[in-house]
Formats: sequence, C-alpha cells, structure tokens
Amino acid sequence: MINIANNLFRIIERLRVYEQKYGRKPGSVSLLAVSKHQAFEKMLDAFNAGQLAFGENYLQEALMKIAAFAEYDSANTIEWHFIGPIQRNKTRKIAEHFSWVHSVDDITIAKRLNEQRPLHLPPLSICLQVNLSHEMSKSGIEASDIFSLAKYCASLPQLRLRGLMTVPAPELEFAKQRQAFHQLFLLWQALRDQGIDLDSLSMGMSDDVEAAVAEGATMVRIGRAIFGSRG
Ligand SMILES: *Cc1c(COP(=O)(O)O)cnc(C)c1O
Repeated sequence: MINIANNLFRIIERLRVYEQKYGRKPGSVSLLAVSKHQAFEKMLDAFNAGQLAFGENYLQEALMKIAAFAEYDSANTIEWHFIGPIQRNKTRKIAEHFSWVHSVDDITIAKRLNEQRPLHLPPLSICLQVNLSHEMSKSGIEASDIFSLAKYCASLPQLRLRGLMTVPAPELEFAKQRQAFHQLFLLWQALRDQGIDLDSLSMGMSDDVEAAVAEGATMVRIGRAIFGSRG
C-alpha cells in the first residue's frame, strides 16, 4: 500500500537538499500537492501529515473535494490552487472557492476573475501561464504577449499578480529540463526589472523537480510522486 505521509516527507526532504545544492534559501521552495484524479482518502492522508496546499485541475471535481474537506478542516486552513485550463463560464466558482489560480493566460479570464472575486475575500493570487514550447499545448500565453497581460493584471484590485507558471514539454535530459525553466526565470526577471512586483515562480512537477529548483522555482506542483499514478 502506498504511504502518502512517507512520500510527502521524502519530497520535502528532497526540496531541502536541492535548495542547498543550488544555493537557494532554505525553505524558499514550497510544495503544492496536485490531487487531480486522486481519491479523497489520499488527500486526507496528506492533510493529516500536515500538507495544506492542494492543486486541482477540474472545477467540478475540486468543488466536491473542497466540500468534503469541510468537516475535517473546520478552521479552513487548506489553501486551494486552481491549476487547470479555465473556461469562461467557470470563472465565478473559481474566484469564489480558490486562493490561487496558476493558469491565467488571457485578458478576459483575468477581467472576469477580478470582477467575480468576492469582496470579503483577500485578492485572488494569480500566476500567468506561459507557453514556452509552442507545439505542445494550447494552454498558456506566448512569451511575447506577457508584458501587456502582466501590466493589466497588476492593475486589477481583486487580483494579486504573484508570478509565472509553465508546463514545459516533457524532457528526460536534465540540461533540457533546466533550459525551459531558465527561459521562464528570465521572463520573470524581465517583468521584475520593469517594476512589476512578483514573488512566485510556479514550475516543476514529479519528473523535473530538481531542474525547477535549480532554476529558481518558488513553488513546485507535485502529483504522482506524492499520491501515486492517477486513477
Ligand atoms: C497534473 C499536473 C501537475 C502534477 O504532475 P505530476 O507529474 O503528477 O507531478 C502539475 N502541474 C499541472 C498543471 C498539472 O496538470
């Protein structure tokens, strides 16, 4: 049987080792547990082991899990992150139920999230998803369009622009994994040089986490290495 607490512990241990190896500040990389298509019981194991940040890709599934957690997390300590593609008609529920959205890649989506974020909640933290490998996926904005979207998002009162996110094409070679993440890091630096205040770089998954930490990730999004393969 898969031991979630042990997997979590080992991933966190690896993050601390990589931080040291690549001269990153101790504790500067946080762990988002990606629980899409994973059983609620496994998430509960992770929660009981101390994990409080969960990432979900599909709204209906996420809303069911958020509701199911209510009785276990009465103090509302869990931070929910939406990391999947966003359809326009889903923005209201996302704005109401999540603390973070990593996959903003379009001005209309940003505008709707800002308008629909309830005023009694803190501004919604967002990352802009960048498409670095053009041929792979349709998600993410092209690097050349990032400046105008970032400036627009930074001006919206109910959004808090935190950083950039990417899902690069899978690469087995460590040097190639680093290359893609380095591109995102440079883009992030360029935005900061323009005076846009960013503190987050959301990159790295189960198979490329070391490369991401080496290139400056502040948040890695890990699914299978914690929960096992998805059902
Ligand atoms: C599924 C997913 C992850 C986690 O991937 P693993 O390979 O299971 O670690 C991270 N980010 C996004 C956007 C995902 O869709």
